[in-house]
Amino acid sequence: MGRNPEMPNIKSLLLKKQKGKCNWCGLYFRNGDLLEKDHILATALGGKNEFANYQLLHGGKCHNEKTAIDLIKIREKRATDFIKKLFFEWSQVKFNGIDDIPVLVES
Ligand SMILES: [Zn+2]
Repeated sequence: MGRNPEMPNIKSLLLKKQKGKCNWCGLYFRNGDLLEKDHILATALGGKNEFANYQLLHGGKCHNEKTAIDLIKIREKRATDFIKKLFFEWSQVKFNGIDDIPVLVES
């Protein structure tokens, strides 16, 4: 029907998709529970802003635990990206081995 995924009924669609259960703890949502929309794959890790990447979690503990793990992954990714960049930069640098000592070749 070409519905805008940001419409307020997204939570009810997600509820249906998850059969009324929290994707983190696996328990049914109950009346009065805080429901929060979460990116399954965090946008900082390349996750898209689309329905397929959304899930509902209990606000509070469940969402906080998920976010804590996302943050660890984001930190790891940044570290990995940094190391890759470093390796790439070093691979562009030319050395001459003089008596087994790498000496930078000025370009
Ligand atoms: Zn939960």
